[in-house]
Amino acid sequence: MNDSNSMRHGQLPKADPPDPLNVLASLFGFSAFRPHQEAVVRAVLNARDSFTVMPTGGGKSLCYQLPSRLLPGVCVVVSPLISLMKDQVDAAVATGLNAAAFNSASSAAEKSGAVVRMREGTLDLLYISPERLRLADFRALLRQQRLAFFAIDEAHCISEWGHDFRPDYLDLSSLAHDFPDVPLAAFTATATRRVEQDIIARLHLRNPLITRASFNRPNLFYQVIPKDKVERQILDFVRTRQGESGIIYRISRKDAEATAAYLSAHGFPCLAYHAGLADSDRAEAQNAFREDRCPLIAATVAFGMGIDKSNVRFVIHGDLPKSLEGYYQETGRAGRDGEPARCVLFYGRKDIAQLLRFAESVEDDSARAAAKSQVYRMLDFTQKEGCRRKALLSYFDEIPAFENCGACDICTGEAEREDATVAAQKLLSGMVRTGERFGAGHIIALVMGKGTKRMRDLGHDGLPTFGVGRDQPEAYWRRVMDALLAQGLIIVSDPAFPTPSVSSAGWELLRGKRSCAIIRLAQKAEEKSGRKTREEHPIFSLLRDERTRLAREAGVPPYVIFSDRTLREMAERLPDTPERLLGVTGVGAYKLKNYGEAFLSLVRGWLDEHPEEACRADEGACPAPPVGADKDKPAVARPAGATRASGTESWRETGRLLDQGLSLEEAAEQRGLSLSTIYRHLGLLLSNGKQYSPYRFFTPARFSQIQRLYRETGDRRLTPVVELSRAAPLSEETAVSYDEARLARLFLRGPSSEIGSGQDGA
Ligand code: ADP
Ligand code: ZN
Repeated sequence: MNDSNSMRHGQLPKADPPDPLNVLASLFGFSAFRPHQEAVVRAVLNARDSFTVMPTGGGKSLCYQLPSRLLPGVCVVVSPLISLMKDQVDAAVATGLNAAAFNSASSAAEKSGAVVRMREGTLDLLYISPERLRLADFRALLRQQRLAFFAIDEAHCISEWGHDFRPDYLDLSSLAHDFPDVPLAAFTATATRRVEQDIIARLHLRNPLITRASFNRPNLFYQVIPKDKVERQILDFVRTRQGESGIIYRISRKDAEATAAYLSAHGFPCLAYHAGLADSDRAEAQNAFREDRCPLIAATVAFGMGIDKSNVRFVIHGDLPKSLEGYYQETGRAGRDGEPARCVLFYGRKDIAQLLRFAESVEDDSARAAAKSQVYRMLDFTQKEGCRRKALLSYFDEIPAFENCGACDICTGEAEREDATVAAQKLLSGMVRTGERFGAGHIIALVMGKGTKRMRDLGHDGLPTFGVGRDQPEAYWRRVMDALLAQGLIIVSDPAFPTPSVSSAGWELLRGKRSCAIIRLAQKAEEKSGRKTREEHPIFSLLRDERTRLAREAGVPPYVIFSDRTLREMAERLPDTPERLLGVTGVGAYKLKNYGEAFLSLVRGWLDEHPEEACRADEGACPAPPVGADKDKPAVARPAGATRASGTESWRETGRLLDQGLSLEEAAEQRGLSLSTIYRHLGLLLSNGKQYSPYRFFTPARFSQIQRLYRETGDRRLTPVVELSRAAPLSEETAVSYDEARLARLFLRGPSSEIGSGQDGA
């Protein structure tokens, strides 16, 4: 990955700026811009300052990477974390951009290489830390270069109002003055209006284009579940997610370690991550997770900043987070690639009490009030009757247009509510009748009618509430008690003596003036805590393994090579030619060149072994588009009157046409299928015992040409034959297509085969 210099040739020269949309397709392999990307890209191209708020995963990096390729001069990217910079550079280089980093971790050779490339005008992106800009030498160096623009990543770090203020960022204030002709593009994932104004003022942005994308993350599913035995619940969830990458947040270091040990012991390798670990252990946990060596990580909130991994498929909160903002940021680490991801929050009474205690312990009056209001907002989120997504978005003052978001437990009806008003009244009445001087455990024992010695000594076994709740198990009463606390129906004023008392809202409930509902616990956790294991195509795991292998070879995290979304699309569409592979989201010309062959031969090998799958490789041949197929891509039009047959029967229909004497081309036309599909059908017919002469489909010269090529290359792979025929065609010969090579191999491998399949020339 370090030989980025040589990687430019043949790629879109800067001198002749093509249309951004072309670069989007050819370089990034995307068919359309995400919301707001195009406006920001065009502002940058027009040398206008810009300020962009886009949620994590919204696609901020493309907003500066794409123009960096189109504009003359280098784009200087300011990024706060040196640890992240290597990944950012790797990802840019893997896409085909010419990128380098300049920081305290870069070697002298890397730095001088970057300077050479800047001078030549070939460097697209130079990633630096804000500290670097402080150095007079470095500024002098920059002044000698042609600068396209500055991109300020994580721009909220410049604001003291933001949650991540970094004094180093203050130095960026002088950029507008010191480099008056160089446009500035600032990006952040979190900024209230106040922070936004602060950033714009401090960076001295000049008439900036201000873009605020919605905070909505449509691919995230939100779910809230009352705790029962939380480690067991997490395990049940993880079981439905074999092999997928996930983060499990726990409130304490001890819990993070216990959860990691529990899951590992049950066959789901999981590493712990928290600030109390040795630096090397922490780094190893993070790397193992990032590189997909360990799919799960159980962590405190110390884990997150610096996680760029795009294929995190779920984020579990084993305990209530301190604030909704924190919850949003933490769940935001799921599904950056835009693929569906699940966010599951478990909460219980202990969490609530702990958070309230924490808020209560804040010394400063106004800070304490703020902390308490954060906790109540969080509690409100867990208890809300309405859409979870709406509740989250309202935190960012967004009022979404939808009624039903379709992707939260409330909107989908996954979280069934049940009325618990009478049960709640029983508990409250138990508290009142015992003078609000006893802990929750005692009150529960009271309503359940447990005749312990203590109960008798206190005379509580004679109270009217004694035993009124024998019909329900203890777990039920604990959940109702949790709901009382979370819904503010009881209060625990002295954390040292957690004896709940009835709040004014609780009194209203006792008087029958309000109701209380709780979430019904699912019979089996896996029924509710996640969908069943995704119906994954078996080739997906092979593709994933291939990605891991390539990533190790290149020393980059797997998602840098291809995103999960790209792999899933490959598994669905089974592209077996470079052209088809280019049609997959996230495959651009450069990635095709570097990684294409590895995935193509995997798919081809798969199709050879599973000829019955061939129909999926051609969308037009399948009766229905595969699940999750890209809806933006139009289905292949079918001529009227074309014979349709179901996917499995389709090849027989082709066989009938061939029996009637049609040529392959004619059969393709008549059936409205591609020639490639007809070739595959022919393969199926042959492997199902149908007899044809090779000379019906090949001229003798052609057949022996291919036969000769296979003798040279062995018949394990198709590519060498195709490539060789292209490289050195003899006088009259033309290049061999993949379809021809595959078909010829079927004949050659038959009983009278002259080349054995054991001959492996690869
Ligand atoms: P951010 O920096 O805003 O968190 P990224 O720049 O990392 O987001 O992009 C998130 C993911 O979205 C990446 O996997 C990226 O490849 C993908 N992506 C970005 N733009 C597009 C697009 N126009 N079409 C499809 N995928 C995109
Ligand atoms: Zn919803």
